[in-house]
Amino acid sequence: MSLAQELVAALRAVLPGPGPVALHEPCFAGNEWKYLKDCLDSGWVSSVGSYVDRFEDELARFTGAKRAVAVVNGTAALQVALRLAGVTAGDEVIVPALTFVATANAVAYLGATPHFADSAEATLGLDPAALARHLAQVAVARDGQCLNRQTGRVMRAVVPMHVFGHPVDLEGLQRVCDDYGLALVEDAAESLGSYYHGRHTGTFGRLATLSFNGNKTITTGGGGAILTNDEELGRLAKHLTTTAKPPHPWAYAHDQLGYNYRLPNLNAALGCAQMEQLPEFLRRKRRLAEAYAQGLAGLTGARFFREPPGCQSNYWLNALILDRGREAELTPCLEAANQAGYMTRPAWELMHRLPMYRACPRMDLPVAESLAGRILNLPSGPRLLV
Ligand SMILES: *Cc1c(COP(=O)(O)O)cnc(C)c1O
Repeated sequence: MSLAQELVAALRAVLPGPGPVALHEPCFAGNEWKYLKDCLDSGWVSSVGSYVDRFEDELARFTGAKRAVAVVNGTAALQVALRLAGVTAGDEVIVPALTFVATANAVAYLGATPHFADSAEATLGLDPAALARHLAQVAVARDGQCLNRQTGRVMRAVVPMHVFGHPVDLEGLQRVCDDYGLALVEDAAESLGSYYHGRHTGTFGRLATLSFNGNKTITTGGGGAILTNDEELGRLAKHLTTTAKPPHPWAYAHDQLGYNYRLPNLNAALGCAQMEQLPEFLRRKRRLAEAYAQGLAGLTGARFFREPPGCQSNYWLNALILDRGREAELTPCLEAANQAGYMTRPAWELMHRLPMYRACPRMDLPVAESLAGRILNLPSGPRLLV
């Protein structure tokens, strides 16, 4: 039997059949209708309302961050978080080549240049050792800043992304950041409910961001949040994302260039209902990951990706990784699984291969390039194994 045939047989055994199984689907089994109706009945649907404050408080409590600021989406959250970390036009920001395009786009929106870095096979996220070796070659720490000697630009921040919910080596990256005066800003869009050595992802960096897009662990339709443990940065995040208008009973003035990125109360109401179900979603996702781990254990030439040691992953998007040398079997696996009704997909096209980022600086990317040809994401919705 080919790997593709083995995979389909294993998916049939693990997943409830028949019928198409989506990659990820939202689950609205709680107070969603009640809270939405409350918004409509009260008239508070837009940019002000009690659900926004409540959602922010619940996010802060759940993650352990001092402050959470809800915004329109995860990309906007990252753009503002990077600006607050000091990124300005002309800077470089280190981001993984293996990520969703939003990570690099947020950098480019600020007029800065993404600088692509390689991944670690053990976490799928940024590799601190490879980054340290690269910086030793191209960068120099001077007056508390990190200068790229090849481009002459200031390297301002590092943005690790917790791929598919699996925590990256945060301590390793923090050491590299400390050595070079780089700000650590976590793209935790995929890792709500994931913990690195017992501490929630998104609480290590100076700032971090979450996403509540329709395919994420919880959804507000569209939405995102900025997390920080710094009270002043939290205050500024709220200020910048609400048009930078100083509070005043009637005066309408703005003290800097702000954004209208506030999450509407309607979306926040959905978020409050989803937060009540988050622990149950996480339990189900873990149960599904365990079922995959067992069901896929016998495959020849591929392994189910498990959470890195010392970490607890939310298993947002389950992944099968083909062994090195098995790249040619990726497309047959995708074809066979999708044809059998199990939606699977490969990893994102690597950032340095996208037309708008082809000319950006980067290190050698052997691991990201290898992983990109071997990753296959599996159906992961919270309703699959109830
Ligand atoms: C989902 C996601 C985002 C944010 O996406 P939005 O759709 O803007 O909320 C950012 N980075 C990564 C890695 C993501 O997966």
